[in-house]
Amino acid sequence: MSLNEIFIDIMKQLGYFVANLSREFNSMPTDFRYQVIVNEFRDALGSENVSVRPVDLYAYSMDYYLAPQIWADRGLKPCQPDIVVHPGSTEEVARVVKIASRHRLPVIPYGGGSGSQGGVTPLYGGVVVDVKRMDRILRVDDRSLTVTAQPGINGQRLEWALNRRGFTLAHYPASVYGATLGGYIAARGSGTLSTKYGKAEDMVLSLEVVLPNGEVIRTLPVPNHACGPSLLQLFVGSEGTLGVITEVTIRIEPMPEARRFNAYLFEDIRAGLEAGRRIMTRRLQPCTLRLYDDNSSERIVKRVLGLDVRGCYMVVGADGEASAVERTLDAMAAICTEQGGRELGPRLGEHWWRHRYDFYFPPHNLMLPEMSGTVETTTTYDKIYGIYRAKKEAIEEGFKEFGARYIAHFSHWFPWGVMIYDRFIIPKPPQDPQEALELHTMIWAKAARTSLAHGGVLNDHHGIGFKLGWLMPEQYGPAFAVLQAIKDALDPQGIMNPGKFGFARRV
Ligand SMILES: Cc1cc2nc3c(=O)[nH]c(=O)nc-3n(C[C@H](O)[C@H](O)[C@H](O)COP(=O)(O)OP(=O)(O)OC[C@H]3O[C@@H](n4cnc5c(N)ncnc54)[C@H](O)[C@@H]3O)c2cc1C
Repeated sequence: MSLNEIFIDIMKQLGYFVANLSREFNSMPTDFRYQVIVNEFRDALGSENVSVRPVDLYAYSMDYYLAPQIWADRGLKPCQPDIVVHPGSTEEVARVVKIASRHRLPVIPYGGGSGSQGGVTPLYGGVVVDVKRMDRILRVDDRSLTVTAQPGINGQRLEWALNRRGFTLAHYPASVYGATLGGYIAARGSGTLSTKYGKAEDMVLSLEVVLPNGEVIRTLPVPNHACGPSLLQLFVGSEGTLGVITEVTIRIEPMPEARRFNAYLFEDIRAGLEAGRRIMTRRLQPCTLRLYDDNSSERIVKRVLGLDVRGCYMVVGADGEASAVERTLDAMAAICTEQGGRELGPRLGEHWWRHRYDFYFPPHNLMLPEMSGTVETTTTYDKIYGIYRAKKEAIEEGFKEFGARYIAHFSHWFPWGVMIYDRFIIPKPPQDPQEALELHTMIWAKAARTSLAHGGVLNDHHGIGFKLGWLMPEQYGPAFAVLQAIKDALDPQGIMNPGKFGFARRV
């Protein structure tokens, strides 16, 4: 499949081409005050970079979150922005934010729109700030191994540009073709090599941010410091609620001399989890470690990779200097076989690596009309099996009447715990939009609360958005007031991405 075809497929799923635009969508707003505000944006950015076209307002109304898609799929109007702007520089972003602040207009930063949490959904209307025109690489420092770039650069383009110079970002999310650098940072994302190279928040070194009052600030341009709490990490993961990220400096890595894989089959998920725990607590540093439960192995791995496996499939990988790669693979082989894993051989590991993104794209991905959701969480090794069992039961038993299925894999590992990428699937959800949305919300609430009750968190690497925002006070308890106080101090008018993170509404 060409890059273009993949892009079109993503767009299709986002509803861009399925829009059966009603008459209402096609009529331009005629409100006088609205026109006055639109003209201020046109003056600031040039008319060509400001859109109020109905098709744009529709296209920017949702991301990859299923709930707004279900709504639109059933013929109802999603939450739309009032205006879409395309700034080309930090100064232009600052101008946009100042205008919005003066009019108390919500500002919704928008990268690739590949987020799955409703982070870009304009719940209260406002101005969507699409940063994709800001897509330049500003500097590659090949002595310090860093790249500085604008936030709107597409992940795959950045990767190709780095590869041409012998480097890699080593951040390979399945959404690499659609997501932006700013989106990686804003949502604390994770790629297929995160077990070795870290998540987005581990890789980023410094940021430039336009604050909600239009001021531009920079965090300290150093690898680390002891100069007070981390301002950098305040903005990392803030999903557009504290400002617009306008420049990113992030680690890069030399292209590895070797990258190799192997695969194993475990009869029991607990044996696979124990093998993974031993690999990580011995600090073996695999670049990839991914364990599928039996449901995932027999349905998904079989379908995507064509492997007829019974049991729990695990792929392990190592990269770096060739002899070190051999040693790491040997050490992992010893641990896996000790735990009862049957070696399937490097070919079946390499096969996974070549097809690693296929799981998330047509025809293999979960999409409408199925109702599904990735309810992933993370916890320490002592709790991981308990959380897996509890969530499986909560979904399969709790929503039995809807034929709910539960599948899971474990893909981002740390020395002290692991992420569980688990999903619910309802093959035939209700057709009525209200009923469908209610069921969707109930499953999410059940899954999230089960995670919290068993030592997990609301999310590991997709973010919070409005999908999980309403549960943030439950997760944090009294500590949520600290987050709200920071939000109020930085954004007293509450214009930045309102309705997300469970923050109180001000506009
Ligand atoms: C098929 C598919 C596979 C995926 N696989 C992965 C995966 O493997 N790993 C992973 O981590 N995620 C994955 N995701 C989720 C998603 O791609 C990531 O969350 C990604 O980081 C979002 O980037 P984006 O540029 O599309 O952000 P958007 O969806 O545009 O925005 C996400 C959030 O960040 C905010 N934001 C965006 N840009 C800025 C900015 N410049 N300043 C301030 N705030 C900003 C938005 O307001 C929103 O709240 C996947 C999604 C899809 C559709």
